[in-house]
Amino acid sequence: KGLSSKGPGALPADIAVPGYDRAQVTNGIVHLGIGAFHRGHMAVYVDTLLADDPHWGIIGASLRRPDTKVALEPQDGLYTVSARDGAGEQLRIIGAIREIIDASADVAPLIARMAAPEIRIFSLTVTEKGYCHDPASGALRADHPDVVADLQNPASPRSVPGVITAALAARRAGGAGPVTVLSCDNLQGNGEIARAAITGFARRVDPALADWIAAHVTFPSTMVDRIVPATTDADRAAIAARLGVEDAWPIVTEPFHQWVIEDHFAAGRPAFDRAGAQLVADVAPFELMKLRLLNGSHSTLAYLGQLLGHEEVAQAIRDPLLGAMIPRMMADEIRPTLDVPGIDLGDYCAALVARFANPSLHHRTAQIAMDGSQKLPQRIIAPLRARAGKGLASPLLTLSLAGWIAYMMQRGDTIADPQAALLQTAAQGQSPAQATARVLGLTQIFGPMDDFLRDLIPQTAPHVARIIEGGPAAAIQYALKGAN
Ligand code: NAD
Repeated sequence: KGLSSKGPGALPADIAVPGYDRAQVTNGIVHLGIGAFHRGHMAVYVDTLLADDPHWGIIGASLRRPDTKVALEPQDGLYTVSARDGAGEQLRIIGAIREIIDASADVAPLIARMAAPEIRIFSLTVTEKGYCHDPASGALRADHPDVVADLQNPASPRSVPGVITAALAARRAGGAGPVTVLSCDNLQGNGEIARAAITGFARRVDPALADWIAAHVTFPSTMVDRIVPATTDADRAAIAARLGVEDAWPIVTEPFHQWVIEDHFAAGRPAFDRAGAQLVADVAPFELMKLRLLNGSHSTLAYLGQLLGHEEVAQAIRDPLLGAMIPRMMADEIRPTLDVPGIDLGDYCAALVARFANPSLHHRTAQIAMDGSQKLPQRIIAPLRARAGKGLASPLLTLSLAGWIAYMMQRGDTIADPQAALLQTAAQGQSPAQATARVLGLTQIFGPMDDFLRDLIPQTAPHVARIIEGGPAAAIQYALKGAN
């Protein structure tokens, strides 16, 4: 027996259920990349505001995997969100997703749905690599294999820029009107990256379409924050026990959630603010804060944590060495690169450490360690560059970078990264000094070699050598003494 067979009305009284009639909801949003994060973040905001404004139901699509459709379709798109911390757990059934499309086999039905006039927002969580952009310049990578294939065959695309361009071409042809592309991926200037990727693709297909997009489509940037780990079988069993019915794919997350959105919508928007989002003119300071303090610390905990044998973030932050390093790195090295209106960064950092230590989130360091080439430039290299520009030393950020390089030297054959082949060749079988120079010399990831990168190599290589030769614990201890 599954979630929908019993119906939300028959669930135990302490389970929150949709506060609106699902039959009255119409579609307004197509979401690409219907993974864990969307279902634990944006879909929850939408679910909150559907009672006031039922025109924003979500059609969720995956370009890569049938798994969400297989799990959620039999339960009418309903699923549970479990928000938990050391103090307890709250369960809520989310009804915002009305339909799920598996576009991995056939993309045409998805493009047809995206071309409907009722759809006014295309939202995205397709991972950093889904934009097919060059992390160093932000531009579309015209040599990306998926982009090459889609440019040859733009009517049946597979890449995110290709699919959205095809949908926009169909909207233009059918008079479906303007639309907003709302990126919710962890990328600095995610709206601008989406714009560059999509208009870059469209211009190569049809310059008139690119002009139409410039006039009819907006790309607000957003800062998204809620830790949503991959669901485990143990989560599924525990949630089924509380519901009294099976949920094939519940989402487990923390109580905290934050969403800051640039208020620049081409065809209207739901009152996201009434569900707790913040609408601002410029999201950039919030993005930098989150990418550097939260995501930068996460990547540090992931690579050094992996090397120390910590499989989960909560375990890594309880390690005395990482538990000392992370607050120091945030306070001494990252905070001085930030200036965020209306936010006390000291409180923000303290809250982050508590969130990392949440004992009921089993957030795997191996999951965060994936796709480092797409993440490190904005999380670690950008604050390093900002500090170097002011003549400031950054021993702990440099150690964090060294952790990634050492991880690739030792585990290179197991890494999941779109640039895995390049990174393996650069790091494996090299001395620490060579590996550091060769990794930081990868222009596809870091951009052209310049004075900043040239200086960074000799600052980073000794940390890498200490990690490899004396072990990660001794290397962290050494850096913490030096950073005093
Ligand atoms: P997930 O693995 O559950 O889902 C990822 C989705 O992206 C899937 O639908 C997958 O099919 C799709 N995808 C992967 N590669 C793609 C590609 N090359 N082209 C098109 N689609 C592709 O992961 P998730 O937890 O949902 O995270 C997705 C993204 O959300 C992250 O990469 C990040 O940018 C953002 N995010 C996640 C969290 C979190 O805590 N999970 C927090 C903030 C932001």
